[in-house]
Amino acid sequence: MQMEIYRRCYKKYGFPFLAAALCVLLEALCDLMQPTIMADIIDRGVKNRQIPVILHFGVQMLVITFLGALFATARNILSSRVSQSFGADLRFDVFRKIMRLSESAPDPIDSGSLITRVTNDTAQVTQFVNGMMRIFFKAPVTCLGSIVLAVMLSPRLSLVLFAVVFLVSALIVASMKLSYSRFAKVQSAVDKVNRTVQEYLLGVRLVKAFGRYGDEKKKFDGVNRNVAERSVASQMVIVIFSPLMSLAVSLGIAASLFFGSVLFRAGQIDVGRIAAYINYMTQILASLIMITNIFNTFVRTKASNERILQVLRGEEDSGGSLRAFRDHSGRLSFRNVTFAYPSGSGTPAVRNLSFSLDPGETLAVIGPTGSGKSTVAWLCLHFYEAKEGAVLYNGTNVNDLDTKVLREQIALAPQKSMLFSGTVFENIALGRPGASEREVVEAAEIAQADGFIREMPEGYNSILGQGGVNLSGGQKQRISIARALVRNSPVLILDDCTSALDSVTEAKVRRGLKAAGNGKSVILITQKAGTAMAADQILVLDDGARAGYGSHRELLRTCAVYREIYESQIGTLRPEAEPYGG
Ligand code: ADP
Ligand code: MG
Repeated sequence: MQMEIYRRCYKKYGFPFLAAALCVLLEALCDLMQPTIMADIIDRGVKNRQIPVILHFGVQMLVITFLGALFATARNILSSRVSQSFGADLRFDVFRKIMRLSESAPDPIDSGSLITRVTNDTAQVTQFVNGMMRIFFKAPVTCLGSIVLAVMLSPRLSLVLFAVVFLVSALIVASMKLSYSRFAKVQSAVDKVNRTVQEYLLGVRLVKAFGRYGDEKKKFDGVNRNVAERSVASQMVIVIFSPLMSLAVSLGIAASLFFGSVLFRAGQIDVGRIAAYINYMTQILASLIMITNIFNTFVRTKASNERILQVLRGEEDSGGSLRAFRDHSGRLSFRNVTFAYPSGSGTPAVRNLSFSLDPGETLAVIGPTGSGKSTVAWLCLHFYEAKEGAVLYNGTNVNDLDTKVLREQIALAPQKSMLFSGTVFENIALGRPGASEREVVEAAEIAQADGFIREMPEGYNSILGQGGVNLSGGQKQRISIARALVRNSPVLILDDCTSALDSVTEAKVRRGLKAAGNGKSVILITQKAGTAMAADQILVLDDGARAGYGSHRELLRTCAVYREIYESQIGTLRPEAEPYGG
């Protein structure tokens, strides 16, 4: 499962990957031959004072060193190229997936954590792939090769060698076990820092308004220190274990020298061989440390890996059966729907709700904040699945429809208008890629946005967002409405999109919708009785349940909640509210 990411890499870069592995292998073999050649120079050349023999082996050594350097260069070039393009691919995949995830969920994974996943975690994996291609094969080959050659040089000295290898391996396993959970903690601490900064930025006005800088600073200080402490804790493992490993190997070298000298005095071994033996021992040390590094990076990468895979495997839009429909009349109905947010406390946001919206009709949904109005919109678009009851589109349960097709049929202007960096035109055309200029302008006209857009310095080509034009809440809402309109779908849902508009502009938008509506079914979510009263039908929600359902006149007579809303907003303008008591 962990290997999934590397399998992706291998699939795409199989050839350069294998070429790098081959280079590493040859390089390791070159390294392995050096001490044996050195032993020959000493034992055959130096000991017997044979200059030609020394020269012969010396040249051999030079050639092999040169070849080794050549292979090392080749694998370095290959590994940086492969790992960097793999990293770029991975970042792209994660980003693309995040886009899809956020499309399917109104409340996606914590975005602070998503950002670290796209940047930090992919960098970690990239670094690991790079390291793996450079040394992954080299370390085991050098280690095993050195052991074999050392044993061949002197089977008797090998007892020391095996003791050292055993000890160091045990240390490696222990350090791996300790560092994994610690590193995972560092990662989550970094996430928290990101989240804190992000929360601050989102609520910066609120922080200013309430003068809560002190609290924010304290909060940041806390999470920030936490990162430092946890990083130290994770470094501790390395700090303690790597000197222990060096110590074990140094003791091994000392022991080999001691036993080597005993054997030498007994005439059972030559000086050159002892030197070569020590040399292999240091190579074993070097490769064992390399292996620990690989494991350390692997352990760190494991956490990153999991976090990336979590995104890549994230639930996308559930497809449903691919039942497309070409019906251009939009009929939406709820049949005894009860729904509680999976992430919520379990209390239903919508309870036993039934209503229906016929083609061409306008249904207003009114109710206080938190009464479940937006939830109705999310359910219509199948952002969440109703577990009890049924949401039907043209008579078919939306669970059985292809979500993509369903969302082509229902356009939503969400409660929170979102603008993206780009031009005004692009922001509106987002509703339907490929929309013509005429369609965009028409939509903007109906949404009463055309006027203020044309007053901008560059009209429809003005840049919005960072460094661009700043829009008021009402202007954002109108652009958001235009975006939904340009989609030109049979059903239109406006979720409290006129809350920031003055009543004159709002009435214009409503009239525009009616005129241009030609058979569109509209759900108008609002908190204002003045907006709701013009609709064909009004659904009154109270705490997720239906408190009333009917026309304005009917509801005034039959629904206490509606009457209360109406009177509190409009009723106050009646004569009985006259200040002088009449
Ligand atoms: P309204 O749009 O009428 O203000 P909502 O439909 O947004 O109300 O919310 C209805 C209830 O569901 C509220 O109690 C709210 O706290 C809860 N709720 C809304 N969105 C979520 C969510 N994403 N996760 C959990 N609970 C939610
Ligand atoms: Mg809402």
